[in-house]
Amino acid sequence: MALEKVILVTGGSGLVGKAIEWVIENDKGKYGKGEGEKWIFITSKDGDLRSVEATRAIFEKYKPTHVIHLAALVGGLFKNIKYKLDFLRDNLLINDNVLHTAHEHKVEKVVSCLSTCIFPDKTTYPIDETMIHDGPPHESNFGYAYAKRLIDSQNKAYNDQFGDNFTSVIPTNVFGPHDNYDIQDSHVIPGLIHKCILAKKNGTPFIVSGTGKPLRQFIYSRDLAKLFIWVLREYKEIDPIILSVGEKDEVCIKDVSNAIVKAVGFEGEYSFDTSKADGQYKKTANNAKLMKYLPDFQFTPFDVAMKESTEWFIQNYDNART
Ligand code: NDP
Repeated sequence: MALEKVILVTGGSGLVGKAIEWVIENDKGKYGKGEGEKWIFITSKDGDLRSVEATRAIFEKYKPTHVIHLAALVGGLFKNIKYKLDFLRDNLLINDNVLHTAHEHKVEKVVSCLSTCIFPDKTTYPIDETMIHDGPPHESNFGYAYAKRLIDSQNKAYNDQFGDNFTSVIPTNVFGPHDNYDIQDSHVIPGLIHKCILAKKNGTPFIVSGTGKPLRQFIYSRDLAKLFIWVLREYKEIDPIILSVGEKDEVCIKDVSNAIVKAVGFEGEYSFDTSKADGQYKKTANNAKLMKYLPDFQFTPFDVAMKESTEWFIQNYDNART
């Protein structure tokens, strides 16, 4: 049968890209590869998306009809604080090149990726999709936040002026196989899994930075992947949609650390270094819009997802990003 859709996934080697690839290849239900779909997962080795020429060459080569745009300069709290200009500029360039080249190629649909950490710092909770631009983001990640917010503005502008079908999703904190497990520059879960495994291996204490009190909603990358595939195939709005577990599934970092200790089987000394920064206390997101569309979506239980992520890292220790 003739191909109907050529779906180009930028950032295909990352945490979310690898999860989408896994679901497309392994899901036997409605999220697996559809008839007439060709999926192409690209990485920075296929071309640097900060360069307009490299971006055009990629679109010329693959001629996508649909794009899932994940490529971004991504990092944890400490990297965000240190490299604000890189986070602003690299992400602005990548997003502008991908969206404009998709427009030039008359791509039928683009789904880009925002994040709950781009919302205003001073806000009311829970946050929802209408509040992205309501005030300045947290000082620690303003470079990343402003670059991401502009994707939403660009989507609206491309739609208003040209009728382009460009939309975006807003995941909460993602974790899963293929994460960046670097201890300094990673997000909280992979960083702590790595730290805990090293503490177990070396017989040293497992020390968690901060008070353990901040609250977060975490989404397993393979659950997020299914939701991305649903958005690409069925979601019709230009306005973004939050992809998250519900408010009742928000956990504090201490609960996360406890789950990691259990998944790793760590039995040594374990404490919190309260002299280290906590970051934003909470950023509770409301997933009512998603639940309205997909009331029966089954999220993987946190402990199961944590176990799979820890086991993946142990099995892939030599090749994982550390
Ligand atoms: P990763 O850091 O795991 O992967 C980033 C991907 O982007 C890699 O495939 C990387 O390619 C690619 N990339 C980076 N810079 C460039 C560039 N200049 N040119 C081409 N490709 C590039 O990211 P995640 O999978 O974690 O994130 C995916 C998306 O989800 C991002 O847009 C991120 O902002 C968003 N997001 C992530 C969250 C999280 O908790 N991780 C939370 C909310 C949103 P290579 O491997 O070759 O370097």
